[in-house]
Amino acid sequence: PEAIAVQELANRMSEKGADLVKALFNMGSMVTVNQTIDQDTAELLVEEFGHNVKRVSEADIEVGLIGTDDDEAADLKPRPPVVAIMGHVDHGKTSLLDALRGTDVIAGEAGGITQHIGAYQVTPKGGGTITFLDTPGHEAFTDMRMRGANVTDIVILVVAADDGLMPQTIEAIKHTKAAGVPMIVAINKMDKAGADPTTIRTRLLEHEVIVEAMSGDVQDVEISALKKEGLDKLIEAINLQAELLELKANPDRDAEATVIEAKLDKGRGPVATVLVNRGTLKRGDIFVVGSESGKVRALVDEHGKQVKTAGPSKPVEVLGLSGAPMAGDMLAVVEDEGRAREVAEYRAAAIKKKRLVTAPTNVDALFAAHA
Ligand code: GDP
Ligand code: MG
Repeated sequence: PEAIAVQELANRMSEKGADLVKALFNMGSMVTVNQTIDQDTAELLVEEFGHNVKRVSEADIEVGLIGTDDDEAADLKPRPPVVAIMGHVDHGKTSLLDALRGTDVIAGEAGGITQHIGAYQVTPKGGGTITFLDTPGHEAFTDMRMRGANVTDIVILVVAADDGLMPQTIEAIKHTKAAGVPMIVAINKMDKAGADPTTIRTRLLEHEVIVEAMSGDVQDVEISALKKEGLDKLIEAINLQAELLELKANPDRDAEATVIEAKLDKGRGPVATVLVNRGTLKRGDIFVVGSESGKVRALVDEHGKQVKTAGPSKPVEVLGLSGAPMAGDMLAVVEDEGRAREVAEYRAAAIKKKRLVTAPTNVDALFAAHA
């Protein structure tokens, strides 16, 4: 029969180890947090705490899904879509991100200086806030997915009309399909003399991307990021896709967020840009993120302005971390510092253990690794 350490079970349940020990004592078992209990006892205990019995995998703990509890449907409110821009090098990803940033009607009022924090929000004329991931290359999308984090709701595939489908275009299609994320094709550089959108639409068929112009259901929009043409249509397409997805989250709970960038800043210490998945992150919140923990000292938006709170789909820089986490790590607000340290230490130990296990264990493997 499987056995689990009391502390490990406590971590999975987001409860204190000591509370489990107490409950076990009341059930007639004298154990310490470091001792193991059998599966039946574990299930009794889990039920005792009013949790659903759900065997959470080791991977879940490492990624950091602390709150695996579901929100009540009645508590869910619409949230902005999170959009990633992918495509071949030089097809205009950065230009498009810059052009889209310019569609924001609120930025001017904010008056701050645009900062690169890994993501930004715009509210174009006519409403409908959109969050854009603004990370170099495909890293944000693929690295984070490999680590189990899935923050992207919609992918915009940028294809230069004068260059067509290239290796990274095809790679992006593969990643997007594998993730099951809906795609919008933006045919860029329409201002150029050699622009040939028809060939692109036809070639996309070979990769099972059937755009609307070919009677499929993938929206395609012709744009020029340089001339800022077709942006309204692209935004319309994003809003339409977002509506179909019915994106919702509960804003009224302790926050859970995903790290999209992290760094050690000379002046400010460890800084992580997170995207809030659900709940509302507030100044003063105590949290654990990856194997780090902290207390929110400040939240800074993409205009370099301090904000007091960040709700679902909002990207913010978080200050007040014990160290820099990794992209894809999950941040979760917990009730107190003791709990934050407990989970962070557990995760650090789990990561170390995993490294030991995955290291070559016998001499042959060791030599094979160097062959
Ligand atoms: P990225 O590598 O995908 O980020 O591509 P960039 O945004 O850096 O663009 C690569 C080059 O294409 C730059 O010289 C841009 O000025 C140019 N470019 C981007 N969009 C357009 C466009 O719509 N029309 C034209 N003519 N050039 C563009
Ligand atoms: Mg670029």
